[in-house]
Amino acid sequence: CFTNSVGPPGSGKGTQSPLIKDEYCLCHLATGDMLRAAVTAKTPLGIKAKEAMDKGELVSDDLVVGIIDEAMKKPSCQKGFILDGFPRTVVQAQKLDEMLAKQGAKVDKVLNFAIDDAILEERITGRWIHPSSGRSYHTKFAPPKTPGVDDVSGEPLIQRKDDTTEVLKSRLEAFHIQTEPVIDYYSKNGLVANLHAEKPPKEVTAEVQKALS
Ligand code: ADP
Ligand code: ADP
Ligand code: ADP
Repeated sequence: CFTNSVGPPGSGKGTQSPLIKDEYCLCHLATGDMLRAAVTAKTPLGIKAKEAMDKGELVSDDLVVGIIDEAMKKPSCQKGFILDGFPRTVVQAQKLDEMLAKQGAKVDKVLNFAIDDAILEERITGRWIHPSSGRSYHTKFAPPKTPGVDDVSGEPLIQRKDDTTEVLKSRLEAFHIQTEPVIDYYSKNGLVANLHAEKPPKEVTAEVQKALS
């Protein structure tokens, strides 16, 4: 299992990827979750990443490639992983190929969370997350049992600082300009599974299972 999830903000990568981890990959690496943890902890990495994240721009390739390179060394990630939100540029995709080649592996599937921009604002502005696990909820589409509280841990949920209508515009622009070419990069090798990401979560899960079976 060397699988990547690619899609615009709010397309459902973070909702579906943990399910893939449990069923197929054992290891789930979400660069956005890791970067937010670094920002909260005010590590050198977090201090460098914060400004770009707040503006809805991509963090530099060097920083995120470094994070992935480090995270791939975790024991649970030796046999493969589901990458969520990485690669987001063609340079990142090329670096990933190089890192995998060193361990005799290569990307075997890319899940393309295809969806219209018009649907994303409602998803993003209604999103609530549990920061330490990365679990996401939605006030309308996936409400927690108690408003503002994580179902599993009982800890509080928060809204992301960049989940506003205004910052979403920059994030979508970054997606179309910098990340869509990543889908073309993998299409050439026939690795891309196109999902109907606008469907309800369970139907998207079924499409993911079909793509990975
Ligand atoms: P979303 O869930 O909206 O797709 P993420 O949580 O994956 O967003 O990412 C949040 C922010 O973290 C991005 O807007 C970007 O600033 C930064 N980021 C995450 N992954 C990457 C990456 N692979 N390359 C560059 N920046 C990244
Ligand atoms: P991403 O990780 O791609 O940014 P998320 O998985 O966090 O996206 O989903 C964004 C928001 O939309 C969350 O609040 C989530 O609960 C909700 N959501 C996810 N998938 C669906 C879906 N298929 N239909 C409706 N809402 C969804
Ligand atoms: P495990 O391998 O112990 O099952 P997970 O991959 O499920 O760990 O990660 C647990 C949580 O820690 C997730 O929210 C994930 O996003 C986060 N996480 C994983 N790796 C890192 C890292 N290098 N830095 C910060 N957070 C991380």
